[in-house]
Amino acid sequence: MCKGTRPRIFSPTERFSQNLLTMMLAHRIRLAPTPGQCAYFARAAGTMRRVWNWALAESLHQIADQQHPNMMALKKRFNAIKYTHRDWLDNEGQPWLRTIHRDAHAQPFANLARAWSRYFKAMRESRPAYRRVFKKKGRCRDSFYVANDKLRLTGKVVVLPKVGQVVLREPLRWPGRIVSATVSREADHWFLAVLVDVPERVARLRRRGNGITGVDLGVSAAATLSNGEKIAGPRPLKAALRRLRIRDRRQSRKLKAAKDIARISGSIPKGVRLPVSANRTKGSLRLARLHARIARVRRDFLHKLTTRLCRENQMVVIEDLNVKGMLANARFARAIADVGFYEFRRQIAYKAQRYSNILALADRWYPSSKLCSSCGRRHGELGISERSWTCLHCNARHDRDVNAAVNLQRLATSALAAQSALPVASPATTLGTAVDIMLEVGGKVTLVRYEYGQQDGSGQEKNALALLRVFESIRSEER
Ligand SMILES: [Zn+2]
Repeated sequence: MCKGTRPRIFSPTERFSQNLLTMMLAHRIRLAPTPGQCAYFARAAGTMRRVWNWALAESLHQIADQQHPNMMALKKRFNAIKYTHRDWLDNEGQPWLRTIHRDAHAQPFANLARAWSRYFKAMRESRPAYRRVFKKKGRCRDSFYVANDKLRLTGKVVVLPKVGQVVLREPLRWPGRIVSATVSREADHWFLAVLVDVPERVARLRRRGNGITGVDLGVSAAATLSNGEKIAGPRPLKAALRRLRIRDRRQSRKLKAAKDIARISGSIPKGVRLPVSANRTKGSLRLARLHARIARVRRDFLHKLTTRLCRENQMVVIEDLNVKGMLANARFARAIADVGFYEFRRQIAYKAQRYSNILALADRWYPSSKLCSSCGRRHGELGISERSWTCLHCNARHDRDVNAAVNLQRLATSALAAQSALPVASPATTLGTAVDIMLEVGGKVTLVRYEYGQQDGSGQEKNALALLRVFESIRSEER
């Protein structure tokens, strides 16, 4: 169940409380590197992976010795050995780390420190906690970090340390302070993701409409709107599944051939590295390209959908779906993953901020499919395959998804009414504020309001605090 009735403040906006009228946006730009630059990128990503694995192994030793993993100490120790220890020397006895910029080997410590603190926090709060895992070549995301003072961006050229000028496929989209950058690989393409602190007037986008729309995310139609419109998703995975299986099979045949030559049957023993043939490399690239394409099609569809929803409405209502729980259902997992619910949720949250929408999240236990949107009474059991049903009380015939979307819209409208009855704090707040409202119809709705205040930022803090106090008083009333 969602955590009680505590106001939930969404992380992208947390920094707004510091009275900064800016927003962090990331622009991912395709790079056009030379083969030499690609080789450096691959080595830098490999360095990042190897240092991560070293730091993870060492911190696991610390935990085994009943110590708290201490990244500062580990980094110090690493710095002491990284140019001298034989594990970090190349075949000629030279310290190869000198050829890679230090950001690539310093960042894993920061990442791991954050991962551990998240882990211990989850443990303390007795939530499920997951330890980090070792990164495996070819199985993990290849990327490395570049600090903001180490890169220079002008037009379609970025200057990266140790690499020099790299051509970008497009210039950086936003003006603003560059916070950091990450170079990462997707199949055989390299990308530069630049995190920019964008001024509010640039980040803010204008809406075209003021509707209130309920959105039911589903499998048969990716999204059903409360006006009855059904939006079919591209289902890229389903379309590519045949090709994916063929390429997968070819890869495993090549692996089997390599194993046969090495006379290994069953799983490959630890520490054994099979020679990789040129054809196997080519095959895995083809497979990776297909996966990249699937992800791209899915992302493109979701971007268009979420932009449209935020642009046309002042309020978008979605179910706060338990995506992880749904993915555990083997029958639907693939179809659900193919729509990309999680990514939808992420995109709509940050776009709501840019378009100043109110995002309403209906409690995941709210029976949006089972309530009759005509008479409001509850239908008994509704099987997951029943696409339409008739209300036993008022004889209304309902399309399952449209009915759910209409219910979500209703829920939001009543929540909005309930909220406007509260003492109103100044709307000039830059906080992304969230409030949970319990409804008589049996459900809870969380309203997340993203609004921008006056340009000069004066009095922002005070207003934000006032608004929070209103939420506090709601909380105490509910108790
Ligand atoms: Zn009815």
